[in-house]
Amino acid sequence: MLLDTVKGLWITLKHLFLRPDTNPFPDVEPLLSNCYRGILTVNSDCVCCSLCAAICPDDCITIVGKDVDGYRKPEIFDIDLVHCMFCGLCTEACPVDAIRMSNDYKYSVYDRDLLTLHREDLFRWGDALKIKQQSLKQENEKSV
Ligand code: SF4
Ligand code: SF4
Repeated sequence: MLLDTVKGLWITLKHLFLRPDTNPFPDVEPLLSNCYRGILTVNSDCVCCSLCAAICPDDCITIVGKDVDGYRKPEIFDIDLVHCMFCGLCTEACPVDAIRMSNDYKYSVYDRDLLTLHREDLFRWGDALKIKQQSLKQENEKSV
C-alpha cells in the first residue's frame, strides 16, 4: 500500500519536469488541418436550391426561400448543430460551393437553443470564410 503511494507520487513528481504530451489548450490553440470539419457556414452565393437540406441525413437544415429581384434567396436558413454529425454531405451537394465547413471548433454553450445557427450568422461567417480561403489560395498560387 505504502509502496504503491510512493510509486504514484514518484510518477507525479517525474511528470512535473517533463514536457506535457497534451496540447495545453486554451493557452495554445491546436494546429488544425485544412480539412478539419468545424462549424458550418453559408455564403451569399447560395441560390436557395435546398440540395444541402435534402441530402442531410439528420434533417439539420431548414431553408425557406423568397424571390429577391428575380433571384431565389433564403429568408430562413437554420442549421441545427445539436443533431449535425459533421459528415460534410451538405457541402458536397452544394452546386455553388456556398455551404462550407470552417475550422472553428469552439461551439460549447450553456443553452441548447444557441446551437441552432441562423441565416445572419451563417452568412456573415460564410462570406468572411470565402474571402479568407480565396486569399489563402492566391498566396499558395504565388508561392508555387
Ligand atoms: S454536416 Fe452532415 S449532418 Fe451536418 S448539416 Fe451537413 S449533411 Fe447534415
Ligand atoms: S447552400 Fe448550396 S445546396 Fe444549400 S441551398 Fe444554398 S446553394 Fe443550395
